[in-house]
Amino acid sequence: MKLILFGPPAAGKGTQAKRLVEDRDYLQLSTGDMLRAARASGSELGQKVAAIMDAGDLVSDAIVIELIENRLDECAHKPGAIFDGFPRTIAQAEALDAMLAGREDQIDLVIALNVEDAALIARMEKRAAEEARADDTVDAFKTRLGNYRTQTAAVLPYYRAQGKIVDVDGMADVDAVSRAIAQALDAR
Ligand code: AMP
Repeated sequence: MKLILFGPPAAGKGTQAKRLVEDRDYLQLSTGDMLRAARASGSELGQKVAAIMDAGDLVSDAIVIELIENRLDECAHKPGAIFDGFPRTIAQAEALDAMLAGREDQIDLVIALNVEDAALIARMEKRAAEEARADDTVDAFKTRLGNYRTQTAAVLPYYRAQGKIVDVDGMADVDAVSRAIAQALDAR
């Protein structure tokens, strides 16, 4: 099972991905986590992306595609993999399809978590207070939401045309969202 968890920032993708890791032993592939790890390690890549992330802008397609490609072989040992925060552009989606096709594999399902902007902003403020994530300042968050609307939302029609999207109400409580995702997975 190759699953994309899709949705705006703070929609709950990371929370749901971690539950699938625990409940189903899936592999979570989060480009956001990989980039944060690069920053924490002080690597050249980490230094290169730090300012972009803090501003809430998108890191280049080439960088995130390479991060995913480097991890893709790990999927072979797992019953499933969750792409979390990737792809965020059409170019990334096309690259992912090509990488998977090269392994005689494909995306099976795209869960679109739908959450209203006001609820997202409230969640972000809570998260920023709890985790002190530098990229979760109000201004950066608004930039991230703007980038989601202008660049990332364009990925939805790409997968809708492939008949792979299941819409889930991300405004529901966390357990209800998990149940909806489980239902979509078990229906495949
Ligand atoms: P996230 O935790 O997924 O919200 O990612 C945090 C930040 O990392 C984003 O605001 C971007 O700056 C960067 N990032 C993560 N994933 C991607 C991606 N697929 N494409 C471009 N930038 C990304």
